[in-house]
Amino acid sequence: MKDTFKHQGLRQQLVNVLKSKGIVDAKVLASIGKIPRHLFMDSSFLDHAYQDKAFPIGADQTISQPYTVAFQSELLEIKPGDKILEIGTGSGYQTAVLCDLGAKVFSIERQHELFKKTSKFLPKLGYRAKKLIFGDGYLGLEEEAPFDGVIVTAGAPYVPKPLLSQLKIGGKLVIPVGDDVQVMNMFTRKGPKEFEQEEFGEFRFVPLLENKN
Ligand code: SAH
Repeated sequence: MKDTFKHQGLRQQLVNVLKSKGIVDAKVLASIGKIPRHLFMDSSFLDHAYQDKAFPIGADQTISQPYTVAFQSELLEIKPGDKILEIGTGSGYQTAVLCDLGAKVFSIERQHELFKKTSKFLPKLGYRAKKLIFGDGYLGLEEEAPFDGVIVTAGAPYVPKPLLSQLKIGGKLVIPVGDDVQVMNMFTRKGPKEFEQEEFGEFRFVPLLENKN
């Protein structure tokens, strides 16, 4: 588990690429500049770790593109101590970014292999989520609700209701919605039954799978 000057240099270049693509949140950029993304990937992909691309992480899944991670993190506007629910732990890279931003992170993954691997790996790197859960993200996490923010890191065919109802008033759900291509949506809870919806362009994610546990 090495992080060399070469990796740090490549990371800084990646941060500059993200800036040029429009990411402005200094804290998000600092987290991406700090977290050794290459350690979240198989070693054969080392050279690719600091390109702004998604990559396979095994079990048919991908580590999200850095731009996407930055974009979703920026939308959440995390304050230290915020309670955040992540759906789709995967490699744990997005989880690490959320932890680094000071959030109390709860993260759900439905692939048992990935859940086990990431549960072991994240604490080794010093990133401690409040809880990593093996389960179905469509249900959210009722026992820990309400959340300041919910982030979905897989493409959802529709917006699961529990993810909206588990938000605090003022809380935000950031979720890519669609089948082949997804539109990034953000729902802000304005009242018990009122939500403001905003759309932020197209992205591509692996699917959020339903009834597959
Ligand atoms: N945040 C991750 C992205 C991984 S890709 C990263 O940066 O590495 C999306 C992840 O969502 C996959 O690991 C996939 O197994 C998981 N997933 C898909 N459907 C899910 C569901 N219903 N509940 C929880 N996780 C799910």
